[in-house]
Amino acid sequence: MATIGWIGLGNMGRPMTKNLVAAGHTVRGYDLDERAVAAAADNGVEAVGSIAQAVEGAEVVFTMLPKGEHARSVYLDEGGVLEFAAPGTLLVDSSTIDVDSANALHDAAEKAGFAFVDAPVSGGISGAAAGTLTFMLGGADADVERARGYVEPMAGNIFHAGGNGAGQAAKIVNNMMLAISLQGAAEGAVLARKLGLDAQTFWDIAHVSSGDSWAMRTWYPVPGIVESAASNQGFDATFATALAHKDVGLALAGAESVGVTLPAAQVAFDNLQQLMDEGYAGKDCSLIIRNIDPEAPGVPQD
Ligand code: NAD
Repeated sequence: MATIGWIGLGNMGRPMTKNLVAAGHTVRGYDLDERAVAAAADNGVEAVGSIAQAVEGAEVVFTMLPKGEHARSVYLDEGGVLEFAAPGTLLVDSSTIDVDSANALHDAAEKAGFAFVDAPVSGGISGAAAGTLTFMLGGADADVERARGYVEPMAGNIFHAGGNGAGQAAKIVNNMMLAISLQGAAEGAVLARKLGLDAQTFWDIAHVSSGDSWAMRTWYPVPGIVESAASNQGFDATFATALAHKDVGLALAGAESVGVTLPAAQVAFDNLQQLMDEGYAGKDCSLIIRNIDPEAPGVPQD
């Protein structure tokens, strides 16, 4: 069993590290937020107070951070991973970040003598808790093969998406599709209610019909229908609006760079932007139902 350094113990990092500990690994966890570290320590993670301590003696280092700027800072800044990890350590970034940042990290890591794999995930916090995440790995064959064994206890599916940055490219396209289907589920939930349908009965019908989607099954924005949905908890974030907004923005920027127009993605982005503008960046992205019906069940009335 390995010693694993882990940086970023938020909504995703916490359940992911729990599964690594359950698989018998020693996990040394660090986060800027002391409460996140304490919560991870309750799951058997060894709490440490700096990046240097997290990576000391680690065979592999994982990062699970919000955005490209955070990942760049954690790897490249003074006191960061590249400064303190032992040469040859395998570095795995599971954050969802822009392809340019991912490629910059690949290049810097390679120059400094490390193996680096971009390894974003899909499956939400429910997939993280169940150890059934889909991992999309980008990098050289040998590095990806090395990463596979460490990733296994957290994964339901592991794909080698391609070379450097390919994991991130696959991930932003996937999340763009998720945001569009979430928009559909939210609009469906509102229209079903306004047409007088019982929420559970409609969900049961759509679930076995052509309106079904992962968003509907996992994040249905109506309380009391789907256990894993943030709608049951006042839309406290399982996947924050700010992160969903970031991902769809990355997809739109990628589309622009290759001369493609994506009208549905633009609608999803505008709806997430509206939530951000109205002060809900930290709430769950399924709160987009509020834009369609501010009085929908479970929507915070503040
Ligand atoms: P989160 O905001 O809950 O957690 C991120 C953690 O990183 C926070 O605890 C924060 O304190 C920590 N952090 C930020 N900067 C740091 C630094 N410099 N040093 C140490 N710690 C630092 O986010 P999350 O929901 O866990 O998501 C993490 C990544 O995974 C994001 O890129 C997100 O897009 C992606 N993702 C999230 C989900 C989801 O459903 N939540 C699903 C798939 C992928």
